[in-house]
Amino acid sequence: MNDCLPEQSGAWQWVEQSIRELVAGYGYQEIRTPIVESTDLFKRSIGEVTDIVEKEMYTFEDRNGDSLTLRPEGTASCVRAGNEHGLLYNQQQRLWYMGPMFRHERPQKGRYRQFHQFGIEAFGLGGPDIDLEVILMSARLWQRFGIADQVTLEINSLGSPDARASYKDALVTFLQQHEASLDEESKRRMHTNPLRVLDSKNPDIQALLVDAPDLLDYLDAESAEHFQQLRERLDQLGIQYRVNSRLVRGLDYYNRTVFEWVTDALGAQGTVCAGGRYDGLVEQLGGKSTPAVGFAMGLERLVLLLEALGKGGAPREVEAYLCIMGEAAEIYALKLAEALRDQMPALRLQTHCGGGNFKKQLKRADKSGATLALIVGEEEAQQQQVSIKYLREDRPQEYVGTAELLPMLKQIFNHK
Ligand code: ATP
Ligand code: MG
Repeated sequence: MNDCLPEQSGAWQWVEQSIRELVAGYGYQEIRTPIVESTDLFKRSIGEVTDIVEKEMYTFEDRNGDSLTLRPEGTASCVRAGNEHGLLYNQQQRLWYMGPMFRHERPQKGRYRQFHQFGIEAFGLGGPDIDLEVILMSARLWQRFGIADQVTLEINSLGSPDARASYKDALVTFLQQHEASLDEESKRRMHTNPLRVLDSKNPDIQALLVDAPDLLDYLDAESAEHFQQLRERLDQLGIQYRVNSRLVRGLDYYNRTVFEWVTDALGAQGTVCAGGRYDGLVEQLGGKSTPAVGFAMGLERLVLLLEALGKGGAPREVEAYLCIMGEAAEIYALKLAEALRDQMPALRLQTHCGGGNFKKQLKRADKSGATLALIVGEEEAQQQQVSIKYLREDRPQEYVGTAELLPMLKQIFNHK
């Protein structure tokens, strides 16, 4: 689990701010759910035989003996909350969330035990138009960050639960024929969760799978039509994609459309965003049948990608630093600072604390990153004035009255 230090928080704030603008632009509303949920919720939704539930959850008993889990993902909680508050049945909801998730994985670049996801969940809409919308939203974010040429969209369809079941049988038959060539993990998965074998990172397994039955050949007619319509829309909107019929997700609740945005720029942890349709989940968790589609984006991977590509997001620096020379000036200076904050709330003003001589205070002012030092000594206090020293320009110091100060600062910093 990581600390996010001041030098990194600028990039995070940029990412978070851009996400808030994105979701507002599509009319999505934020939902915030608790970080702990009952363990049962995740077992029932994500699936007992998945990496997350088998070995990655932070699960503990609370003082009542109830089993609780730190949320490993956001969808189950959204569905739980939607059902609990009657938001879903016969309604349309377009929701988003952002926050920490927890999985006990082996930490490495792009993989952490506390990480952050931004996610979208759209409920009550079953057509390919909403699948397209959530894909467009993710695509817009890459555009916004200037990294669209670094990520590739992969899509697939898992079909209906029935279609998936008959594909599963065909796949298991194939895997059994090649059991001798499987690694331990794939052998185990062949029995517990065979679709996950398709996801194996082992190149030998991937080579073997070239001859495996193809998921897309097993699609039911309606899912095939849905997938075709999505593809046509993507084509018409100029969104490039690759159909990857071995793309499956690590969570059991998906059906029909699944997609991932992947990059080569991060090494092994190349998936920055993953999502799909989960039409059965609302009912499975006790609600009335409601179609749904969404995605989750890993923010650490996004920040790493921006870093690797040298994209900005500098910490917001102080604009003005107030130096206070001598005790007699202190109250006047502090009142002046508070008045500035009243009248110019966007101004980033830091007040010097701890006294010291002029040289020391100016050094601090310089280190703060400020453009201006506002200097108040006894004389300024008496005259109701301020000295302005330009820290980044070769320009003489100025004395201004407090009345002139405000319009001057507004002009310099371009604030309203
Ligand atoms: P992976 O195959 O990389 O383990 P996953 O299938 O477990 O991914 P999801 O549960 O679909 O991933 O999560 C969506 C996104 O969240 C991932 O694509 C990734 O960007 C991010 N993510 C998942 N697990 C972690 C983690 N431990 N640390 C950082 N980011 C993560
Ligand atoms: Mg995982």
